[in-house]
Amino acid sequence: MSFDPSTLYLFATMVAGMLGAMLWLFGRQEKIPALKWWGTAYLLGAASVALWTVGGSTLDPLVLLGLNAIGFAACGMVWNASRIFHGRKANLPGLVLGPVAWIGAVTTVEDPAMRLTIGAGIVAVYAALTASELWSERRRAMQRRWIAMVIPVAHGCVLMLPILVGDLMRLNGQNFVSNFWVTLFSIELVLYAIGTVFVIFMMVSDRAVAVHKTAASIDPLSGMLNRRGFSEACARVIEREADGGRPVTVMIFDIDHFKSINDRFGHPAGDEILKLFSAVVVNNLRISDLSGRIGGEEFAALLPCSLEEGVLVAERVREAFENSNITCEEGAVDTTVSIGVAGGPAGTELEVLLAAADTALYQAKRGGRNRVEAAEELPLSLENWRRKTAGLPASARQKPVNAGA
Ligand code: GH3
Ligand code: MG
Ligand code: MG
Repeated sequence: MSFDPSTLYLFATMVAGMLGAMLWLFGRQEKIPALKWWGTAYLLGAASVALWTVGGSTLDPLVLLGLNAIGFAACGMVWNASRIFHGRKANLPGLVLGPVAWIGAVTTVEDPAMRLTIGAGIVAVYAALTASELWSERRRAMQRRWIAMVIPVAHGCVLMLPILVGDLMRLNGQNFVSNFWVTLFSIELVLYAIGTVFVIFMMVSDRAVAVHKTAASIDPLSGMLNRRGFSEACARVIEREADGGRPVTVMIFDIDHFKSINDRFGHPAGDEILKLFSAVVVNNLRISDLSGRIGGEEFAALLPCSLEEGVLVAERVREAFENSNITCEEGAVDTTVSIGVAGGPAGTELEVLLAAADTALYQAKRGGRNRVEAAEELPLSLENWRRKTAGLPASARQKPVNAGA
């Protein structure tokens, strides 16, 4: 089977151009600047190769040089697109360096095979930079990262081949270069263009899923995990700690007389106090601890530590909140919190720990508020706990309204 190199090249160019237009339009519609960079890169690359293929040897050497420089700039833009996609700034000096190096090579190197080698080298460097940029994106699953890596690396390798077999090319002279390599390059170019678009859309969809997932598990007022996000994150931590046979401790925080704060200072002031409390919690926990807002003025935390250590942390949070000295126009706001703490051996379910911490919290409220209580016992199972507490009136279990209010 033999291919006409020019036809193949034009075909490759058309595919790349169409993909470029698609990326650009999609990027504009979805307001993703990186996709507009990618699309522009493909369009510029395709235009320069198309003009070069059609014009061939009839082109003025200066025009040819310009077209090639645009082609290299397009490779640099693909690299910059992946930087922008990951929230980094475009690297403009790096973008200019490739085309400048090519112009330098053309003006100083005579041997066409050598020039081809330098050109392939420049493209390979950009492909390697793109690959490393995609590799450093840690949010994707490993398997997907491999695909994102392999495509640009394979592209770079194919372009580097002339360097590895440079002598062979020189032996065969110009014909070999123009037939064999051009055929190989154009097939590879089509595969690369399609492969890259596949990777791009995969990354965009991954990101969209991640954004929605995050939005669904974050409480907008405090910026903390909401109940759902907290439960999901806890399940992962409990499993990890259970593997190491380490205990976990859960605490529930309930701001004291919060209804009265709302009544006296207004709902917006109440919201500010919720935000302040979330900051107090986060500042007094370690980075490895989890915390979330699980209800109106109820927060929870999960710490990979023993009950005794957990009680110390809870005491620290209680004290910090008490001493936060908030004042409104109406005067000083008395901010205190009651905390229930429960610890369990490796692998204890979150629901079991929360149930025990809730009981301890009830005791803290009954005991006069602004205090930390540790659960004396852990329900052996949630069923047992439910059966045991079933005899109590619901209001007494859920909300200690009468206790010392
Ligand atoms: P206790 O010491 O027994 O916990 O008394 P409390 O007043 O804190 O308890 P209660 O559960 O009766 O009241 C909770 C209040 O929290 C009622 C509700 O208006 C208020 N609240 C819940 N969510 C929000 C919120 O997002 N913002 C504000 N400002 N208030 C909230
Ligand atoms: Mg409450
Ligand atoms: Mg309360």
